[in-house]
Amino acid sequence: MSERLDKAKRIVIKIGSSLLVDQQTGTLRRNWLDALMDDVADCRSRAQDVLLVSSGAIALGRHSLGLTARTLRLEDSQAAAAAGQIRLAHAYQESLARHGVPVAQILLTGDDTERRRRYLNARNTLTALLAHGSVPVVNENDTVATEEIRFGDNDRLAARVAAMIGADCLVLLSDIEGLYSADPRKNDQAEFISEVSEITLAIEAMAGATGSHDGSGGMATKIQAARLAGQAGCTM
Ligand code: GLU
Repeated sequence: MSERLDKAKRIVIKIGSSLLVDQQTGTLRRNWLDALMDDVADCRSRAQDVLLVSSGAIALGRHSLGLTARTLRLEDSQAAAAAGQIRLAHAYQESLARHGVPVAQILLTGDDTERRRRYLNARNTLTALLAHGSVPVVNENDTVATEEIRFGDNDRLAARVAAMIGADCLVLLSDIEGLYSADPRKNDQAEFISEVSEITLAIEAMAGATGSHDGSGGMATKIQAARLAGQAGCTM
């Protein structure tokens, strides 16, 4: 895997809320972000294009707006996303500025990856941003997406974006190391599966439906992302 990562010309990295935001305090894990952005800057200096898909807007925003309910109403999670997104963008900008790397924010809805005209437009903008040497930071446009048109998870969004820009490698960073034969938090017999060459029904069955408190994906959406990425010839 690390060889594939080294050789990739264009990499999409998806960063999950549970890594970026401290689950106890609801604040950004700045040192962790800085360490990851050091790696991103290294990739850039080896002439690899890097695009980030970052979650964390809702997790950060709910803290700053004081929204403590475990499950938020749609309008409250959209308000949290609006308050958190600006903090998120600022954090990436500051962290990559240490390396002189420009950052650009793109917020996408489901339509932007499905309707031809919007798809082409988003693709052109992302391609231009990469050509100009910046690191695009993508998230779902949570503040306008309604329940019906939401992706809801950034795993599949990241796979769609990877396909859109012709990335050869997609990395999903999560609080779990990878795929297990069962949920390792519930089953101590669960075995780690280091490589999957094809998404079969048996692989799909290994993915439960749960995620963490602020993250929404869990393993099921990661398997769907793997399928989408694979169809576009992108290793995940
Ligand atoms: N778009 C959501 C956010 O930024 C996260 C979705 C996800 O957890 O994948 O908070």
